[in-house]
Amino acid sequence: MSTRAGILLLVSGPSGSGKTTLCERLEKAGEAYYAVSATTRAPRPGETDREDYFFLSQEEFRQKITEDAFIEHAEVHGNFYGTLKSEILSKLSEGRDVVMDIDVQGADLVRACQDSTIKSALVDLFITVPNETELRSRLTGRQTDSEEVITKRMNNSLEEMTYKGKYTYLLISSDRETDYRRFFSLLEAERMRQLRHA
Ligand code: 5GP
Repeated sequence: MSTRAGILLLVSGPSGSGKTTLCERLEKAGEAYYAVSATTRAPRPGETDREDYFFLSQEEFRQKITEDAFIEHAEVHGNFYGTLKSEILSKLSEGRDVVMDIDVQGADLVRACQDSTIKSALVDLFITVPNETELRSRLTGRQTDSEEVITKRMNNSLEEMTYKGKYTYLLISSDRETDYRRFFSLLEAERMRQLRHA
């Protein structure tokens, strides 16, 4: 039996859309590797270096840019975020599926990427919430961010939502189980598509 190449499932969506939870659940179920991004933002309570993010100083981040270590990097909410080549390329060539959670600017950069492994592996999905009231309630519910941070994220999220038409797939978040079922179904369908080239 032939083996297929790995899928790169790129997920974007506003803070509070539930995308991180979905990506983590997919990884826990052993269905995909959840790529760890690098960031200059401070860890939130409960976050661990190298598991949630590679937490870097501004200087370390700049050094990685110089070394051409990123597939893409962008400034989001006043901090830098980037996807490390080392997190993605080797996994894909081993045939492993990789899920990455990046912002809309980063997604544009990945779509424009000329690397043939990435081009043939890429599937993009935007996750959104049904309306603004729901968005605010989800952002407030997190309780780890200050009002100022929430307002910044709210404005950024509304701006991000205008990008949804650039993605191949759109998931409008409802309850956790429905979201996960739809999310996993997308991966399964894409696996069947990739098999044609195996
Ligand atoms: P948070 O600080 O809430 O973990 O993430 C804030 C935003 O940064 C989210 O929209 C998330 O998708 C985005 N983000 C996380 N990792 C990356 C990355 O590697 N590259 C880019 N461009 N955005 C990222």
